[in-house]
Amino acid sequence: MHEKVAGMILQKQKATVAMALSIANERYLAEDIKNKNIRQDYYKSLIAKYKENTLYKNIWIQIFDENITSLYRSWSPKKGDNLKNIRQDLVNVVINEEVAYSVSVGKFDLSIKAIVPLFIGKEFVGIVEVISHFNSISKELKKSNIDSVVVLKKEFKKQLEQPFTKLFIDDYYVANFDAPRAARDYLKHNGIEKYFNDSYKIENGQIIVSYELKNKNEKPVGYYIMFKKIDSISNMDLDFFMFKWLTLGIIVIMGIAIVVSTMLFFANRRQKKYYQNIIDSATNIVIINNRKSIVDVNEIFFKYFDRYKTLEEFKKENGCICNFFVKEDGYLQKDMNGIGWVDYLIQNNSLSHKVKINIFNKLYYFFISAYNLSNEEDYYSIVLTDITEQENYKKELEHLSVTDALTGIGNRRYFHNKIEEEIRRAKRYQHPLSLVMFDIDFFKEVNDKHGHGVGDEVLIEYAKLIHSLLRDADVFCRIGGEEFMIILPHASVDEARQIAEKLRIKVEECRKVIPITISFGVVEYIPGEEIEFIYKRVDDALYKAKASGRNTVVVG
Ligand code: GH3
Ligand code: MG
Ligand code: MG
Repeated sequence: MHEKVAGMILQKQKATVAMALSIANERYLAEDIKNKNIRQDYYKSLIAKYKENTLYKNIWIQIFDENITSLYRSWSPKKGDNLKNIRQDLVNVVINEEVAYSVSVGKFDLSIKAIVPLFIGKEFVGIVEVISHFNSISKELKKSNIDSVVVLKKEFKKQLEQPFTKLFIDDYYVANFDAPRAARDYLKHNGIEKYFNDSYKIENGQIIVSYELKNKNEKPVGYYIMFKKIDSISNMDLDFFMFKWLTLGIIVIMGIAIVVSTMLFFANRRQKKYYQNIIDSATNIVIINNRKSIVDVNEIFFKYFDRYKTLEEFKKENGCICNFFVKEDGYLQKDMNGIGWVDYLIQNNSLSHKVKINIFNKLYYFFISAYNLSNEEDYYSIVLTDITEQENYKKELEHLSVTDALTGIGNRRYFHNKIEEEIRRAKRYQHPLSLVMFDIDFFKEVNDKHGHGVGDEVLIEYAKLIHSLLRDADVFCRIGGEEFMIILPHASVDEARQIAEKLRIKVEECRKVIPITISFGVVEYIPGEEIEFIYKRVDDALYKAKASGRNTVVVG
């Protein structure tokens, strides 16, 4: 949770920078600032577009001239005031000629700010500032059942002349207006300071995690406090982890790829310095190519290809980065249906493409995109965003979501996935397919006599035994308490009956933990039959096995 929220905040900061950069790169802006004539409608519609198409629902834009006099504010008609003596962060951007981004507290709220200076040639002409909010992060967390309260330290109360959310816990400002009442009351009741420690606590059936929010001078300004009920932790929300979170990343890639890498290549030296800062501070690998070879890469590139110190060294041994791609379904390959991978990416650049890369026996996963650099058709940029951690995490979650926690075999969900797949295969290749369902006899008595713990051990040991007696291609799942299903591809009903009979005898002979017996139902798939129907037939057969005295195999 801790890393997740830290990652999201960082992503959001970068996305805010990307937005500011894309605005700064708007063709007429520098000229407009010089002429003191900002196209208000353009920015209004830009904000509306962000609102509609991204997770960023609260975006504010502010534009200043070379004297740091406000020319445009998206949230207010007020302009013409000079902030030179008020906003040191703006002044620093001018002095350092660098893009700045930070978490900061203003008059209204806690926000994420990105400030970009603008130049025409070497002449400094003005500043673009983009401000975004924490609410989208809270909303994302909510989807995986995490409630969050973002609070500022007490000392900011004075500074907040017009608090945006109007919510306070004692004197601590609450920066996300959707902070749930129960969570706020809980903090108030238990003393909120107790949670100001950048760690986690388990209380009241929930995990409470605090993440310290720091401004750009690394000073804590407040805390991101998250609540998650312990019993909801197993309900892992794959969708959240894999889709929504990464959506934030995609916005970053698009913004940075289009704006920054173009700048990296075409901008004059002064501009290059601060755009280079951003791509070097981003976690993305940026590669500039022409049709023949790589022309430029950023620093991050060498973090991955650490065998090389310079691009020349890399190029001596390698022609194309695509030689490192791993051929696997679902991942970008050198050749995409007859189109080269770069053209394929450029033609499909609204989609998110993943690539699996083997760099000297270390596996990485990236989002990959390619963009033609403006003006020059022959140059393009490739941006790679590392999603290795997320992909591995996703694979782990996917595995867990189809695995029975007690026995380690497939669970009901796995059975449903597999039966559909196996039926499709049986139909296509016209081979037989059989299904075996079994249920332990008098298992309630096992629990009653020996306790639930012994009952569990029985399930584990006998599942292990049966698993060891099946072929690799067979699919063995626990579909309920002590009910199991085996899919036997390529087996006719006769073969399936023999297999079940063998299992029945082996179980009876095993006597591990305590002796048990098992009843079996066996059926063969009838081509064209609906899944529900075969399921009912095998269940009926098992019922008959129970009715006829148990410890037996009945064919249905
Ligand atoms: P029958 O021969 O008719 O199957 O009799 P039975 O007692 O086995 O009846 P049934 O299959 O309906 O009983 C299921 C029992 O399995 C009820 C429950 O106590 C037990 N059970 C279900 N899941 C678990 C589990 O995960 N661990 C343990 N120890 N027991 C479980
Ligand atoms: Mg039973
Ligand atoms: Mg049962």
